[in-house]
Amino acid sequence: MTIKVGFIGLGAMGLPMASNLQRKGFDLKVFDLDGSKMDQLETLGARKAASIAEAVEGAEVVVTMLPATPHVEAVVLGPEGVLANINPGAVLMDMSTIDANGTDRIARACAARGVAFTDCPVGRLVLHAERGESLFMVGAEDAVFERIEPLLNAMGTAIHRCGPPGMGSRMKLVNNFLLLTVAEVCAEAIALGTKLGLDIGTMRNVTGATTAQNGQFHTLMVNKVLKGDIEPGFTIDLAFKDMTLAMTAAAEQRIGLPVGSAAHAVYGGARATPYAAKDYSALLSLACERAGVATPSLRE
Ligand code: NAD
Repeated sequence: MTIKVGFIGLGAMGLPMASNLQRKGFDLKVFDLDGSKMDQLETLGARKAASIAEAVEGAEVVVTMLPATPHVEAVVLGPEGVLANINPGAVLMDMSTIDANGTDRIARACAARGVAFTDCPVGRLVLHAERGESLFMVGAEDAVFERIEPLLNAMGTAIHRCGPPGMGSRMKLVNNFLLLTVAEVCAEAIALGTKLGLDIGTMRNVTGATTAQNGQFHTLMVNKVLKGDIEPGFTIDLAFKDMTLAMTAAAEQRIGLPVGSAAHAVYGGARATPYAAKDYSALLSLACERAGVATPSLRE
């Protein structure tokens, strides 16, 4: 039987994820503050909702894919929000990357209303979401997981059970702390090599064949900034949000992250430049500007 889904948040990630659900036969109602995003889903056959209440009405699973903790709390806990309108038998599935303490607050509010909850933040890039090849970090009890598994299989190719609700958000902040720190080290290495006169193709081939190999150079940058494309993707503003989640979690745990702190400051500074709303691969453009060299390009 077709699963009825209310999908809220059709941005860089939500749009391709919802599109995959619609193409694969789910019964979708969608809502976003930006009507043009809903129009794109409507052309695929989804129904547009005029409000959060309309999006969640009758839904068996409600998906939220929103920028940051305040957006998710407003949409879920607000007076006209998801919890005020959701069918008590439904599952709320938050796929946004947010503060794990925020996830815990939402999980508690759901439990108080008898609504099942799971946090399923998403890994990999927009290009993977478009192909239905995302990775999911799931915090869920077994019975809830069984209910959302068909949606995850329609949107991605890798599902990682991380523990009970809240553990998906915790895994995601660790994952993004690692990748966003490596992205800055990678940008600095390419800027240094360019300044030293090395060809970008040579750097790609050598670092791709040694233990220096990493996805930030070889998947992200090769497909974005090195092709001259810095449209998001994943913005520097959202990357700074994720670095802040990790630094805050570290502070709460009384842990110092020295290299991470330096990378956090780089993202913070990048937000004052015209690159703030660009793809985070534009860290390379910033590193090259600091080094006084043009950003290399790699066009096949
Ligand atoms: P985005 O800014 O492109 O999209 C967010 C969408 O939410 C927008 O369309 C916006 O209009 C909508 N929105 C905001 N407030 C709303 C509200 N109150 N009601 C309805 N709609 C509302 O962000 P994104 O890149 O799609 O990221 C979404 C989440 O996924 C973030 O937490 C991000 O960190 C995470 N993420 C992003 C990527 C990526 O590569 N872009 C990858 C993995 C995870």
